[in-house]
Formats: sequence, C-alpha cells, structure tokens
Amino acid sequence: MLKPNTRYKELKDTYLFNTIYRKTNEYLAANPGKNVLRMGVGDVSLPLCDAVIKALHKAVDDQANAATFHGYMPEIGDGSLRRAIEGYYKKMGTTITENEIFVSSGACDDLGDILELFDQDNTVMVIEPAYPEYVDTNILAGRKIIHLASGEENGFLPEPNEEAEADILYICSPNNPTGAVFNRNQLQAWVDFANEIGAVILFDAAYEIFIEEENIPHSIYELDGADKCAIEICSLSKTAGFTGTRLGYTVVPRNLVRGGMNLNEMWSRNRETRTNGVSYILQKGALAVFTPEGQQQIHDNLRVYKENASCFIEALDAAGIWYTGGKNSPYIWMKCPDGMSGWEFFDYLLKEIQVVGIPGDGFGECGKGYFRFSTFGKPEETKEAANRLCKLLTKE
Ligand code: PLP
Repeated sequence: MLKPNTRYKELKDTYLFNTIYRKTNEYLAANPGKNVLRMGVGDVSLPLCDAVIKALHKAVDDQANAATFHGYMPEIGDGSLRRAIEGYYKKMGTTITENEIFVSSGACDDLGDILELFDQDNTVMVIEPAYPEYVDTNILAGRKIIHLASGEENGFLPEPNEEAEADILYICSPNNPTGAVFNRNQLQAWVDFANEIGAVILFDAAYEIFIEEENIPHSIYELDGADKCAIEICSLSKTAGFTGTRLGYTVVPRNLVRGGMNLNEMWSRNRETRTNGVSYILQKGALAVFTPEGQQQIHDNLRVYKENASCFIEALDAAGIWYTGGKNSPYIWMKCPDGMSGWEFFDYLLKEIQVVGIPGDGFGECGKGYFRFSTFGKPEETKEAANRLCKLLTKE
C-alpha cells in the first residue's frame, strides 16, 4: 500500500494570505467604493525593462528559424549567461567563477532542490521570524529545525551562539520579512561560526540589489572563508522584475567539501538529474539584465521602489515608531503601536485608513506584534498609503 508523505500534515496552511484576502474582501463588500491600498504584497509592480523586452523578442524570433533555433539548453545554464553572472560577482570583489554558477528557474525552486545535497539527519537553523519556505521544505524532508529567536534587542540580527549550532544555517540578508541587513563584521561572524562547526550556510541574496550602504556585503563570498562553507541563492525576481518571468542563479563554490564529497560536483550531477535547464528565451532576457544598458534600467526601477520606501520611512519617523528595513531593503518591518497584535493592527488600518499590510505573526513566533509593508507598490498608491498612515499614527 502506498504511504503518502504524512509530514504534509505538519505544514501550516496558507492561512496568512488567505485571511488577509478574506478580510479585505469582506471589508470591501461591506464598504463598497472604498479605495483599499494593498501595501503588503512582495510582488513587483514595474514591468520588465526595455533591454530585457528587446532581448526576449529577439530570442523568440531566433526560435522561429532553423539557423538560430535552440533545443535543450545546458542543465546548469548557458555559458554566456553564467559568464555574465561571473562578471557581476567580480564587481563585488569575489572570485566566483562561471563553473560555480548554476542558472535556475528562480530562488524558490533552488531553495527546495538544494536540500537534496544533504542527508535527512542534518539539523537546520532558521532565524525567526523566517521566510516560510526555509521551514516548510525542511518539515517535508523530516529534518529537525532550530528556531533562533531575533527581536528588537538585536535589531532582528542575532549573533551566532551555541543555540544556533546546526548543520544547515539559513541566512537571508537583506531579510524578508524584517528588512534587516547584516553588516560585514556580523556576517563574518556567521561565516567563521559555520567553518568552526562544519555547517553549511544557505545564503539567500534575493534582495542584494537593494543594499545602498558601503559596509554591507551584497554576496556572502565577499567574506573570508565563505567559499568553504556557503551556498548562495539569488534571483532576478526582485532585482529585475522577473517574478512572473522566472530566472535565478545559485552559487556552489568548488571549495565546498563535506564528508569528502565536493558539493559543486554533487550539484552539477543533481542538475543533470532534476532539470533540463531554463528556456533559451528567458536566458537571453536574463543576459540583457547584465549589460550596461540593462543595469542602468534596472537601477532606474530600483529608484522608484526606494522612493516608495522613503514615503513609509517619513511616516514612521514622524510617528516615532520603531522599525527596521526600508533603507537597504524593499521591506519595512514596524512595531505595532500601543501593544497591538499584528492582526489587531491589520484590522485597525483596514477600518481606519483602508491600507493593507502583512501581520508579522505569519513569519513565526518572533513576528508577533510586528507588521510588514512592502515598497514594491505603485508610487501614487504608496504615497497615498504613507500619508494616510502618517495622519493616523500622529493623531492625538
Ligand atoms: N527568497 C526570499 C527571501 C524571497 O522573499 C523570495 C520571494 O519573495 C524568494 C526567495 C523567491 O524568489 P523567486 O521569485 O526567485 O522564486
């Protein structure tokens, strides 16, 4: 008799987003015509930049002619794209090379698949509050998960300590949901810790492009010893608006060896088994992101999101509310006022100013009493939402 994976029963349902959706719709049904501003969603609002669109169109035409047509692409990604990503890593001062870079269909896919490199017996550490995929993928694989608490006292940036001792360490910086960012010294401490205990860091760099301050690493490989303990997972979703187009990349250094096995070779072998590669058309679109023109255009889009962030920052500063993020990150993570819970604050904002965000409770215990805004919304709506928020939070 077939036995299903009963660990699915241990997953929390998608209660958070369903509840947000239901509450918002109920409010709209009871208050028709109200202009509800959705400021929580982590999806981008700006379209793909012109350089990418042109490259995609050209690649479609390539597929129409026998002379330029492409069938299967290499499982690990086309050499031209991997070399372009290598160039991007060089600019950050790292020594990552083409054969350490693996093109993927997005960070989400690789965050799940990468776990196939590790035995089920390994323990996992996630920093709470955590991006739910880190937790869910390991629940399904049956691994023991250690939830390392973080909070206001350490700016949601905990230091490594004996409680964090695990075999697989998840680090996301800039962080979703908290917007907090590890500086060079803080991240070096995690790299040293991982090397000391023989752990592997899974470094999620999905939001690296939002970093604007000097002393903050964009890649974990900017730090000494990271090539011996870290895998980096990145994506063009938030950096170049590829959420609906899909493309990412994962770096597995050749120096990463555990139990006498080379993880770079293992991942190569894994790709041969698990994927037939990413579409030719999308890889051509992604290649355009790394041209000078593409870089210029994605940075123009980034400025729009940064301006959105400054609207929220001004509102929260005016109200004297504690928050992290916004500066080097597209997320703002605020403390709910007057001791409200995340859901109480959600209801309050919906009723009073028709602004929707995400209660922190959805990201684990340490998210309780906090609230996440995203800066990926449309500029006019974000400005309006921040104005309403400011008026509400500063009223006597
Ligand atoms: N990692 C983090 C921290 C994210 O917030 C997201 C998406 O929101 C992802 C990974 C997934 O990105 P992708 O669209 O490349 O699958």
